[in-house]
Amino acid sequence: MRFTSRPALLAFTLLLALPAAAQEGETPLVIRAARLIIGTDAPPVLNPEVVIEGERITAVGPTGAIPIPRGATVIDLSGHTILPGLFDCHVHLGGIPGDGGDTQKMRETVAHEANYAVAHAKITLEKGFTSVRNIGAGNYHDAALRDMVDRGIVPGPRIQAATWGVGSTGGHADINGWNPDVPTPGYAMIADGVDELRRAVRFQVKYGADVIKVTASGGVLSHGDSVHDQAYSFEELKAIVDTATMLDTPVGAHAHSPAAMNDAIRAGVASIEHGTLIDDEGIRLAKEHGTFIVPTIYTLDFIIEEGAENGVPEHSIVKAQEIATMQRERLAAAFHAGVKFAYGTDAAVFPHGRNAKDFGIMVDEMDISPMAAIQTATINGAELLGWEADLGSIEDGKLADIIAVAGNPLDDIRLLEDVRFVMKGGEVVKSP
Ligand SMILES: [Zn+2]
Repeated sequence: MRFTSRPALLAFTLLLALPAAAQEGETPLVIRAARLIIGTDAPPVLNPEVVIEGERITAVGPTGAIPIPRGATVIDLSGHTILPGLFDCHVHLGGIPGDGGDTQKMRETVAHEANYAVAHAKITLEKGFTSVRNIGAGNYHDAALRDMVDRGIVPGPRIQAATWGVGSTGGHADINGWNPDVPTPGYAMIADGVDELRRAVRFQVKYGADVIKVTASGGVLSHGDSVHDQAYSFEELKAIVDTATMLDTPVGAHAHSPAAMNDAIRAGVASIEHGTLIDDEGIRLAKEHGTFIVPTIYTLDFIIEEGAENGVPEHSIVKAQEIATMQRERLAAAFHAGVKFAYGTDAAVFPHGRNAKDFGIMVDEMDISPMAAIQTATINGAELLGWEADLGSIEDGKLADIIAVAGNPLDDIRLLEDVRFVMKGGEVVKSP
C-alpha cells in the first residue's frame, strides 16, 4: 500500500468548511481503487474515492466528483476492488474441526474454547469478515469475546453472540451415546417443554445473548440423531420466539428437515440455519414471513473430502453424503424462488479462515450471480443482524468497514478467498 499526499487538491479543499474530524485533529483518509462494489444492488463504481473521517465514511463517489478533506492521507488500492467488510452470520469461533464437540466437550473446558475463539477471531477478521454472528457457544465465551473486541483488547470482527443456545434432550446439541450415569455437558442449554424453554431464553438474554439459537432438527456432526428429526414441537418453538421477542432478541433455528424448518418459520424465527432440505412449503413460508436462510454450504464438502483426516466420525460423513446433492438443489430452488439469503458458513466445522468458500459454490453450482452472492454477505447479512443502518454497504455515513481484493470478483468470485486489505471502523487491519 502506498500513501501519497494530494497537494493539487489542497488549494481547493481550503475553501471548504472543515469537517468535525479534521477540526479535532484526526487525519482523514481517502481510499482510491479500481472499482467499488457498494454492497447493495447498485452497480459497481469505477475509479472510486471513499473518504473516511474517524470511524465513518463521509463521502463516496468517482474520483474527482467528491470533495477531499484538507490533509487527507491517500490509501492507494489501484488494481483492487473495494467492498464492504463481509458478514459471516454463522460461525462458532470457539470450535475446531472434528465431531462437532461430542468428544471435545468431554475433554476440554470453556477456557480452551475461549482461547481458540481469540485466535479464530483474528483469523476471521484478517480474511475480510468484519462482522460475525457466533450462533451457539455452549457457554458465555462468545459474549466475553464480543466485549473484549469492542473494548479494543482483542482483535476481531464485530460479534453478535448467542451464548448457550437451546437444544432438546437427545438432540443435535446434546451429547449422546454414553452410559446414562455419565454426566454430559451438552453444547447448548438442554431444555424441553414450554416452561424450561422460556426460562432458558430469559437466562441467556440475562447473561449477554444478542440472539437465541435453537436446534430445531437433528444435525450432521452429532451422534444418535437424524437430520430428518424434528426436535421441538410448534408450541415449544413458539414459546422460544415469543419469549425472545418480548426481550427484543431474534431467534436463529438450526434446521435441516422440512418438518422442523416449517414449524420454526411459522413460529417466527429470524433465520433458518442450514435449511438443507427445504421443501416447497418451506420456500413459500420463508417468503411469506421474510425469513432468512443462512446456507452453510461448504461444510458438507469439507466433511466429505477432508472429514476423516480431521476426526469426523464415519456416521457424520455418511449423513453429509446423504444430503449433499439435495442441499445444492433445494437451496438453489429457494434462492431462485426469492427467499432471502444471509451469508453464513458454520466455520469450526472446517478450519476458520476458509469462510469465503461458499461464494464459489453459490456461483459455480447454484447459478447465483457473483453480485447476488456478494450481497448475501453485505447488506443482507447486515439486515439479518439488524445493523443495516451502520454496516453492510459503502455509503456516506456508514461505519468504515472496507475490504479489497486484487482484480474483479465479479469476474472471479474466488478472489474473495484472498482478501488483501481490511479496514474496520476506519482502522487499517491489513494492507497489501
Ligand atoms: Zn453451526
